[in-house]
Amino acid sequence: MRSTLLALALAASATRVFASCAHGTFLRPRAENGTVEIATFGYTGNIGPLNWAALEAPVNSVCATGTRQSPIDMVDGVFTLLQGSDIQLTVNDMPEGADFENLGTTVEVITQGGTLQVADKTFELQQFHFHLPSEHLDAGTSQAMEMHMVFQSAAQEIAVIGVYINVNDAPAASAAAAAAATTTKTKRSRSRIFGRQDPASNNTAAAPATTTPTALLETLFSTVDQISTPGTKVKTPPLVMSEVVDFLKANAFQIYSGSLTTPPCSEGVSWHVSTARLSVTPTSFAKVRDVIGFNARFPQNTPGQPNILMLSALGSAAAAVAAAAAPAAPVA
Ligand SMILES: [Zn+2]
Repeated sequence: MRSTLLALALAASATRVFASCAHGTFLRPRAENGTVEIATFGYTGNIGPLNWAALEAPVNSVCATGTRQSPIDMVDGVFTLLQGSDIQLTVNDMPEGADFENLGTTVEVITQGGTLQVADKTFELQQFHFHLPSEHLDAGTSQAMEMHMVFQSAAQEIAVIGVYINVNDAPAASAAAAAAATTTKTKRSRSRIFGRQDPASNNTAAAPATTTPTALLETLFSTVDQISTPGTKVKTPPLVMSEVVDFLKANAFQIYSGSLTTPPCSEGVSWHVSTARLSVTPTSFAKVRDVIGFNARFPQNTPGQPNILMLSALGSAAAAVAAAAAPAAPVA
């Protein structure tokens, strides 16, 4: 009876569609009729990341067994640094606006063309979406948000550009005012807003003003309250991508081979975590937080080390054996 129920539960879950970080790729094709599919996994309780493997077995099993899972703590030694000038990155502007969807697990922009060329491979941009708080940790520290730009190659390989987003609590200033700021102030601001950065790219002409919010994000998030219900979408105002693209290319990427951070947790994902940081106003951050809530998978083990859930299962089994072998507690 119990196994029958389990089989029924598995069969039911297998017919559902999981929207994920891989939405729009070969792993999770978008619905052809234009409807917004709502994810059936989540971030808390029984559908949270501790139980993703069981939600759609065996498709998701690597979530609990894989040894190169994402996200990770981006500390020295787990990544190599690649200068932004060493990749080719183009993302088409969207002058007519773009579809902005609430998938239940994230909010996502359906892009209209873009390519990433790195190490003789070409990937096509499918979408970008957001996590709150950040999934990767910057040397042990979570950031307010993280943007994922998801690319797929003709050979169905996946590459993701991850970009941390900070809340800009500095008074809004024009680009001209920011550029005119003192050198000391500029350096301090760059350190706070952008974190580690290639000194060679420390060129304010190549990057947007450090104390102003990222225009793309402010434009986009001005509409996020219109998709507060999972399964809804809105057409955004015109989106200019060149500001962010130029900014990314003027900085560097921390490269490692990891996985999707959502089911099915497929490995072989080429991660490019930018050393540049984008910025949103506290008002925009509050609006996005009200819609997303929380959608970050817990940090995974160092690439190449055993999956944390495997270690946890072994530890639980060992604890159970030890408890069974222990002499019964004396009755008082
Ligand atoms: Zn993601």
